[in-house]
Amino acid sequence: PQIFALKNRNLSTATEQSVIHSDPPKVPNLIGGSFVNSQSSEFIDVINPATQQVVSQLPLTKHEEFKAAVSAAKQAFPSWRNTPITTRQRVMLKLQELIRRDMDKLAMNITTEQGKTLKDAQGDVFRGLEVVEHASGMASLQMGEFASNVSHGIDTYSIREPLGVCAGICPFNFPAMIPLWMFPVAVTCGNTFVLKPSEKDPGASMMLAELAMEAGLPNGVLNIVHGTNDIVNAICDDEDIKAISFVGSNTLLIFYFFTIPNSSKAGMHIYSRASAKGKRVQSNMGAKNHGIVMPDANIDATLNALVAAGFGAAGQRCMALSTVIFVGDATQWENELVKRAKNLKVNAGVEPDADLGPAKERVCRLIQSGVESGAKLLLDGRDIVVPGYEQGNFVGPTILSGVTEDMECYKEEIFGPVLICMQADSLEEAIIISNRNKYGNGAAIFTSSGVAARKFQTDIEAGQVGINVPIPVPLPFFSFTGSKASFAGDLNFYGKAGVNFYTQIKTVTQQWKDLPGGSGVSLAMPTSQ
Ligand code: NAD
Repeated sequence: PQIFALKNRNLSTATEQSVIHSDPPKVPNLIGGSFVNSQSSEFIDVINPATQQVVSQLPLTKHEEFKAAVSAAKQAFPSWRNTPITTRQRVMLKLQELIRRDMDKLAMNITTEQGKTLKDAQGDVFRGLEVVEHASGMASLQMGEFASNVSHGIDTYSIREPLGVCAGICPFNFPAMIPLWMFPVAVTCGNTFVLKPSEKDPGASMMLAELAMEAGLPNGVLNIVHGTNDIVNAICDDEDIKAISFVGSNTLLIFYFFTIPNSSKAGMHIYSRASAKGKRVQSNMGAKNHGIVMPDANIDATLNALVAAGFGAAGQRCMALSTVIFVGDATQWENELVKRAKNLKVNAGVEPDADLGPAKERVCRLIQSGVESGAKLLLDGRDIVVPGYEQGNFVGPTILSGVTEDMECYKEEIFGPVLICMQADSLEEAIIISNRNKYGNGAAIFTSSGVAARKFQTDIEAGQVGINVPIPVPLPFFSFTGSKASFAGDLNFYGKAGVNFYTQIKTVTQQWKDLPGGSGVSLAMPTSQ
């Protein structure tokens, strides 16, 4: 077994990255507490999107290696589930301390592999850290219920028990936060785990696993396997895996009879394949989050919110506010938006002045399709060249106005720094437009009217609603929600719902009374009468 010394990878400049580039390390799997290089002959490059340099090489893990990871998790389960919950919580308490200690290294790894700015990468880690903090107090959330004297001398109580081996499949856009949505909650509830990081940026998951082991997580409780579709299908099919958490994309291909180019059907595919095998699945998927701007909205705060939520992380957040509907005349709002968006600095995420890092995949095609179907390109970020990073996948802030519901750029998730502007004559119309969109991850309203805000909150079909808050992701004592095509399953990530997802209920009915002798046998249905 070869230990993958990620702790030493504190890359800070493009020059240092090129040292790695000349001899990219292989990313190992984590099986039963050992970091082991895969015996696979197939590897894919993990690329720094700002420089196109190869950071590392990720294996398409062989089936027997995957089985070894599941088997290690299965073996570790009996003793881990019987470990006192206070001990399991203390591992999380220690883990949150270690994540804080290594925050800068984690952020640098995320910027190197994913591209977002360092400050944003720290936010990525921090939002995951909050789930670890939440998991540190899991005992009270995992408590069962008790009803005394449900019949003479009889009490009933319920126990929330872990499921066994659970698995997580992650997207590329939050390399630390999303693995941390998954394994801390699962393992603190007493489960063991197999994690499949995104093939585009596995480094943060590897560092987090090292920290979890340093925090005292026993061997085999957390395992990591790498790969793409085959390994995901193996996770869906494996009899020993009881539950799957998925975060990533989807399209409802199943309802149409054609494939949308460059789109992935991962979410619904995993949901149906794993459900058919009897597993629990929680599947958080794509988004097209709408912001409705009322004429009475605070001008400065709303413009800042739209710029930050539309272009932050280069639009690669599932809660990015990618569509804005102006109620009433949009001209003034759009002119101001363009001015502010032009001031944003596009640069490599490692550069201190960067507002947006790289993001190019499929973005340019969808911008062009908007232009061709009649949208007005108020700001075009497609031809941007960033000095020193000429090979980078950069797109600058882009604003399309006059967009209509039939356009592909509206119907599809762009997942880039592109803000789509639409117009409606009333709040009712704006809500109807938003609700007709297939996605329902988040939505926001900007207004100074409580009446409008309350109507919006009631009528909007989205999981996470913001009132003068552009990215309304709740802290982990609530749950990350989503509706319509943005979520499949019925128990959401983290919060009470997350604990319920990773546990099953056992009810116990006990009788302790002096039993009268000679009452005979009754074959009638027992009742409490
Ligand atoms: P993706 O769907 O391409 O990949 C996610 C995971 O699924 C990866 O681990 C990948 O290996 C696997 N995968 C991809 N296609 C597959 C297939 N056909 N069969 C089996 N496995 C497959 O997603 P991405 O591009 O990495 O992430 C961006 C997407 O994730 C966006 O759509 C974004 O909205 C979504 N997202 C949603 C949330 C949320 O909470 N709703 C959060 C973050 C990201």
